[in-house]
Amino acid sequence: MPDVVTASTPYLKPLPEISDLNRPFWEALARHQFALPRCDECGDYNWVPYPACRSCLSERQTWTPVSGDATVFSFTVVHRGPGAFDADVPYVLTLGQLVEQPRACNVLAVLEGVDPGDVRIGMPIRIGYVDIPDEGVTMYRWVPR
Ligand SMILES: [Zn+2]
Repeated sequence: MPDVVTASTPYLKPLPEISDLNRPFWEALARHQFALPRCDECGDYNWVPYPACRSCLSERQTWTPVSGDATVFSFTVVHRGPGAFDADVPYVLTLGQLVEQPRACNVLAVLEGVDPGDVRIGMPIRIGYVDIPDEGVTMYRWVPR
């Protein structure tokens, strides 16, 4: 499973709403880098982006690249997808727990490249990237590690 793929066109799934709060995330994704807000006070990573750290409420956070390596924390197999996602069923919606610590940080995405019946809790995965040239945006997914 390649780390980077190009989406087929036309791209019919929802696109991100890019704001001042999350723009650094999407800019990093376009460079095929996974970056999260990291608290300057306690060092915890925070996902999804929020104006304050979820651990200590500090408003001082710095966008920090992470490895993108994770393990499957939880997952569900989707058999009836909404809208354009229905063409992909069955697919595995996965909560991946990043290897970065100290506090566990979970990221939700579709896991590709694994038969739904073979997915297991604790299985090693990593972030993969989906370029969407027509929309000028890059999305992310989980792939086996
Ligand atoms: Zn903090």
